[in-house]
Amino acid sequence: MKKKLSIVMMALLTISLLLTGCGSKAAEHNSGAASQSAPAETAKEMTVKMLNVGQGDAILIETPEQTVLIDTSDLDEQEKLRAELKKAGIKRIDKLILTHPHADHIGGVEGVVLKDYEVGEVYDNGMPSKSKIYTRYMKLLKQKNIKRHGLTAGDELDFGGGVKFKVFAPEKSVVEKGSKTTEGHDPNNESVVGQLIFGDFTMMFTGDAEKAEEEPMVHAYGNNLKSKILKAGHHGSKTSSSAAFLKAVSPEAVLISCGAGNDYGHPHAQTMKRYQMMKLKIFETDKNGTITVKTDGKDYSIVPETGDAQ
Ligand SMILES: [Zn+2]
Repeated sequence: MKKKLSIVMMALLTISLLLTGCGSKAAEHNSGAASQSAPAETAKEMTVKMLNVGQGDAILIETPEQTVLIDTSDLDEQEKLRAELKKAGIKRIDKLILTHPHADHIGGVEGVVLKDYEVGEVYDNGMPSKSKIYTRYMKLLKQKNIKRHGLTAGDELDFGGGVKFKVFAPEKSVVEKGSKTTEGHDPNNESVVGQLIFGDFTMMFTGDAEKAEEEPMVHAYGNNLKSKILKAGHHGSKTSSSAAFLKAVSPEAVLISCGAGNDYGHPHAQTMKRYQMMKLKIFETDKNGTITVKTDGKDYSIVPETGDAQ
């Protein structure tokens, strides 16, 4: 009888332990879910960093869900890119966008980006190029089994967390014509141009697009190009940022990526004058270091590493 009683007691104790166990687990689960959903709603922020990578372009976008890199600067600026990406503390690059196959934009693909990071997908203008650096990049994508997509006007990419990238150039006809031959290209004017959209915040990315690529965009899209911030086309060259394009985009600020004392004289004085006449806030990586844009989709701030806006 005593033995039977103790068995019953043990069974009751086990049941009660199991029940409290379940109960506390459920409570933990609930509180876990609550603490996961609460900050996600308040911490929806996007950061755009124009990295200080000398004479070239490399722009890091961190949305609430994805890490995106637009261009990778030049071959001889790879150490700067490596250091900047390390400083940013990123673990993986979900999307890599290469605006055009010039060395100062795809220079860090092989030696830094594909070497140091896991890359989800790669996007470019989908046109072939004969350059050695491009051929190596294509080979490496195949080896690593990374998907590559061509972007043309009208495409839209989802960067997660409500962030979109709307492509305005190159036109499909430009890519079709250019894909038939590797001769007679003007890669600058085949640059992927697109607008980053997060709520009310907009930023126009231009690669090295010049007037020849800006003009048809102004004709086709007019004021739909309007953006709060402009990434200066072609490092502030006088052949880019034409008056009509600037008028259509009507930015409040312009960010220029260029190396200190570069051989090209970027940014050109005439371009700077055009920006100044529009009373834009001007930031340059050679003077301001890495330029960080932060936005919650409503307001935005531009924080230079050093100095102030011009
Ligand atoms: Zn360039």
